[in-house]
Order: sequence, then structure tokens, then C-alpha cells
Amino acid sequence: MRTQVVIIGSGPSGLLLGQLLTDAGIDNLIIDRVDRDYILGRIRAGVLEAGMVGLLDRVGAGKRMHEQGLVHDGFDLSFSGRRHRIHLKALTGTSVMVYGQTELTRDLMDHRVETGGRTIYNAQNVTPHDFDGSNPYVTYERDGVTHRVDCDYIAGCDGYHGASRAAVADKGLQTYEKVYPFGWLGILSDVPPVHHELIYANHARGFALCSQRSPTRSRYYVQVPLSDKVEQWSDDAFWDELRRRLPDDVAQAMVTGPSIEKSIAPLRSFVAEPLRFGRLFLVGDAGHIVPPTGAKGLNLAASDVFYLFEGLRECYADKSDAGIDAYSARALARIWKAERFSWSMTMLMHRFPDEGEFGQKIQEAELAYLSSSEAAQRSMAENYIGLPY
Ligand SMILES: Cc1cc2nc3c(=O)[nH]c(=O)nc-3n(C[C@H](O)[C@H](O)[C@H](O)COP(=O)(O)OP(=O)(O)OC[C@H]3O[C@@H](n4cnc5c(N)ncnc54)[C@H](O)[C@@H]3O)c2cc1C
Repeated sequence: MRTQVVIIGSGPSGLLLGQLLTDAGIDNLIIDRVDRDYILGRIRAGVLEAGMVGLLDRVGAGKRMHEQGLVHDGFDLSFSGRRHRIHLKALTGTSVMVYGQTELTRDLMDHRVETGGRTIYNAQNVTPHDFDGSNPYVTYERDGVTHRVDCDYIAGCDGYHGASRAAVADKGLQTYEKVYPFGWLGILSDVPPVHHELIYANHARGFALCSQRSPTRSRYYVQVPLSDKVEQWSDDAFWDELRRRLPDDVAQAMVTGPSIEKSIAPLRSFVAEPLRFGRLFLVGDAGHIVPPTGAKGLNLAASDVFYLFEGLRECYADKSDAGIDAYSARALARIWKAERFSWSMTMLMHRFPDEGEFGQKIQEAELAYLSSSEAAQRSMAENYIGLPY
């Protein structure tokens, strides 16, 4: 089999890139190791920057997002028993869209089928080959048979544990990592959100986040030690702990119910450099991870896709390699700024037992400064809505 671009991974990065390429008349094939239902069973991100919203509209997959997504003009920071609103719209002129990654992925998958895009699911041992030369190819196994797909380029959109980054591990790949000493215990429940916008809470017992997926579906998180196991946390224990970390008026208004998903996610900052190895490109979580505090993971994947698509389009339409030559540097410049913001939000809002009282006082001073300085709020808002690309 032959195609122009093989995309490894059918997550948001792979699907968005595939659709942009298809719309530009560039033949592509997506290969994923699991099936569609498994991918749609993952509960992940939910806050979309305007850049991601624009890309979904551009590929014609934004209809349901505009019908069902929730436009948020701000969010609350909660600390010292009170709340302070960060007015995103007033400070930057821009809002964010709350729409679950699961729904966005479903929309992109459906649109791919409608527009004739090809995806191979349940492919085992997906492996990129010869990307250092001019004739790369990808092999995979299915039902005991090995298949080969020849191509011009390979896009590694296969997430943090994928085959693409593993394939370049001994080719001069440099990695930078920070692992945080806690995780987020998250619960998804069909109860109305406690507030019409998100609340990020800094509390002596640890961080909490009140998020949402729709007017009837809430997503809540509490900071927990890395040693905690999800089985230790009954729904009641979760709700009790969440209420303790929120201001009284919010805790009293909270509607609780059974969880439909409950999991613990570790927090990590990670960047791989460079993001290009000959004709293989690392895209999205394959190249970088942010802690979810700044809601940047999915949105960073979108900007990578945009830069890579522009480069590939130039290759085919203009016979110029300038865009793909610049891909790694352009993407990394934005990635590191988002890494910085996600790290700073994480440091500001979580409890770090090892930082002691000094660290605690610094955190309190920063929150007090933030709530009194419009310049500081604008800086936070500018980063939260997403830097331009
Ligand atoms: C628990 C959790 C919560 C998160 N919460 C948030 C949040 O609140 N806000 C936010 O912005 N971001 C969040 N993120 C991050 C966000 O979900 C990711 O940044 C986003 O999914 C990246 O998309 P991607 O397409 O690059 O990678 P992925 O979504 O990981 O997709 C990769 C795809 O590649 C496939 N694949 C993997 N290995 C192989 C292989 N060897 N061969 C073939 N296919 C393979 C996988 O099956 C998958 O379909 C969260 C992530 C996790 C894990």
C-alpha cells in the first residue's frame, strides 16, 4: 500500500492533521493500535482555546461543538476562603470553549468517515522505518499478517507511550522532564456543575478543580498523593474532600451523585527535542506533556498540527521544504511557553509538602498580588486563552 502521509495515532492530533491534509488533497492513512470505542472511552481534556476552535471550524467538524459547547468568559481562583474571577474576555477580548475531548474526537472521527478518510484500527506493532532516507515506510500487524505502507512522510501522533518517539530515542533525542509529587483524582458525574465557570482552588488540604462537560455533566478533581489508589476513594469520600477544599457558598451549592468515571492521573512536565527526524515528525503528546492545570495539553497538540500541516502543504503545493524545516523550532517555541505557564499554574495552586512554610508564604503572596494587579491578571488570562499561532 502507498500513501503520501502515514499518521500514527487516531487521537485529536492525528485526526485533526488527517482532516487538514485530506481537505488539501494530500492522501493520508491513520493507523491506531486500539479501536474507535476504546479511544472514545478516554475521559481527558475539556477546555479549548480559540485556535483549536478555529481549526475544528476550518475542517468542518465544529457544528456540534458550537451547539453543545459552553463559551466561558472567565474562571475563578479560590484561595483563603474567597474567590477571585479572572475575566478572560474583559482582559483579552477572547473566551474559551468548554467541550469534551471525547466529543471533539467523535466529531473528527465521524467527519473523517464522511469525507472518505481511511483509518486502520487494532494495528499491532506499528513501526516507522527508514525515515532518515527518502523512502520511509510503516509496518503493522493485523490478524497475524504484517502489512507495509510506503509514504513520503510519517506523523507520529501516537501520544506519550507511542512507537514514534521510541523509534528516535537513540537518534539524538533530548528530553526534559519534571514529575510532580502528587496526582489528580478525577470524577465524572451526571450532576449539574456547581458554578457556570471553572473554579481552581488552592486550599490547605490541597488543590481542587470544579470543571464541567455540559450543563448536566460535571468533572471535578482533587490533588492526592501519588501513593493513593483509586479503589481507596469511594464517591462519598471524594465529594466530602472536594467540599472541604471549596469556599462555603460553593460547597453548600454542590450537587453530588454517583461517578460514571473515576481515575488518578499523575502530573508531569515533559518536552522532547527536536520534533523532526528526517521524514518523521513528533506531534502532540508524542513530543510533550503538560500538567493539566493550565488546560494546555490538547491545545498544544492543535498548534503542532497547524505548524506541521502548513509545512506539508508547502511541500506538496509549493515544492518548498521551508515549512517542514522550521516545524520543530516553531512548535517548540510555543510549547515551552505553554510548559512555563502550566508549570507556574501548577506551582501556584497546589500544596507542596516539601516546600515548607516559606514556599507556602510565597504562594500566598503571589495569589494576593494576582488578585490586586490587573497586569498580573492580564498575563494569566493571555496565557490561559492561548498564545497566538
Ligand atoms: C487522564 C488525562 C487527563 C487529561 N486532562 C487534560 C485536560 O484537562 N486539559 C488538557 O488540555 N489536556 C488534558 N490531557 C491531555 C490531553 O488529553 C492530551 O494532550 C491529548 O490527548 C493529546 O492528543 P494526542 O492526539 O497528541 O495524543 P493521544 O490523545 O494520546 O492520542 C494518541 C493516539 O495514538 C494511539 N497510539 C498510541 N501508541 C500507539 C502505537 N504504538 N501504535 C499506534 N497507535 C498508537 C493511541 O491509541 C491514541 O489513540 C489529559 C490527558 C490525560 C491522560
